[in-house]
Amino acid sequence: MDGQFDSPGYCAQLCAVSAVEESTKQIIDFAAVHKRETENSSGKMELEGVKRCLSAIEERVAVNHITVDKHLQVVAYLQAQNKKVHFDPWHRLKSLKKELQNTIKRLEDEREKAEMKELCRRLITHIYSSIERAEGDSQACQELVFSFFLHVQNIHRWPRKRKFMELIPSEEVKVCPRWKKEKFEVIAECPHITEQTHPDSNHEPISPESKWYKVLLASVSKTAFMNDLDKMKIENMTSFVENFHSVCIKYRPKRVYFPKKGFIQRTMLAAIAYNENRMAEMRGERRISGVYPKFSKARGENVYKVQKTPVIQKWKMEIVDKTIERKQDFGKGNPREPDDEDDYEEMDIVLNRFDELLVFSDTDDDME
Ligand SMILES: [Zn+2]
Repeated sequence: MDGQFDSPGYCAQLCAVSAVEESTKQIIDFAAVHKRETENSSGKMELEGVKRCLSAIEERVAVNHITVDKHLQVVAYLQAQNKKVHFDPWHRLKSLKKELQNTIKRLEDEREKAEMKELCRRLITHIYSSIERAEGDSQACQELVFSFFLHVQNIHRWPRKRKFMELIPSEEVKVCPRWKKEKFEVIAECPHITEQTHPDSNHEPISPESKWYKVLLASVSKTAFMNDLDKMKIENMTSFVENFHSVCIKYRPKRVYFPKKGFIQRTMLAAIAYNENRMAEMRGERRISGVYPKFSKARGENVYKVQKTPVIQKWKMEIVDKTIERKQDFGKGNPREPDDEDDYEEMDIVLNRFDELLVFSDTDDDME
């Protein structure tokens, strides 16, 4: 579940919170909230959207757990509702990256910068693969993550119950109380020791006395980061919601203002488009049509991107056809609201009765 605002920053007037179902990756519902509905505070819109969206979903199905990005109000609310909350590792790693990036920016020596960048990339990749490997087992996850600091020292096997504290040679690194108590209980070697699919990287070992080692260790051995790690699971990526958000942008661009009704209708169109796309994907209708090289700034080299055949969006023609049909039936003016439907039904009944009254037939004797 994730929220999206109609315009960037504090001037947002509307927020749509959308929910993707995990197994089908389909948009199952969304709720739109106007700033007026949350005492003119744009900061409260997302939470309100989550509340509405969740209660609408729960009227139909039971919700086992919810994955969100780290929005404090939302997390606090869901936990108070006794919901199991997972974090999307992507968001969390993005903020860790930002933190490390700031450290790198402060460095003056170009060579130091390059070394630190390389090490940060290795750490982030390592954390991601640890979360993936741990499959929701938080103890294993913590141990895998911190085994990074053994691996970079060229230590790939270690005695069980080794304390995390042994990772720091001196007390110079500021670590949290939880970290001080942790031990390697379940993990006693690097995955590459036994698994051929995880080859060892051929990097120079790093001394625990080195500056970078200490900086990186300090950045992850914090209470907040460790607690977040406990809640991270890979398959619960909110990336699918973000993917949906990028579809929404095409239907209601951020630089254009839409009233709430238009905002909702455009979000609906985006949801149909997104779901159709995912279904076409699952039906195997989208084939790979080509591969092209693209320069990646992050890697400094060409990476290969895969291109897929476009989706045939039949639903658009269906909507256009139905709209034309309705226009032909009902003529000019605004479309009728669904509530009018009953009135028209009654009108028809009246007309039908008139038909009966006005048709005179020679054989018709049983008029009541
Ligand atoms: Zn190793």
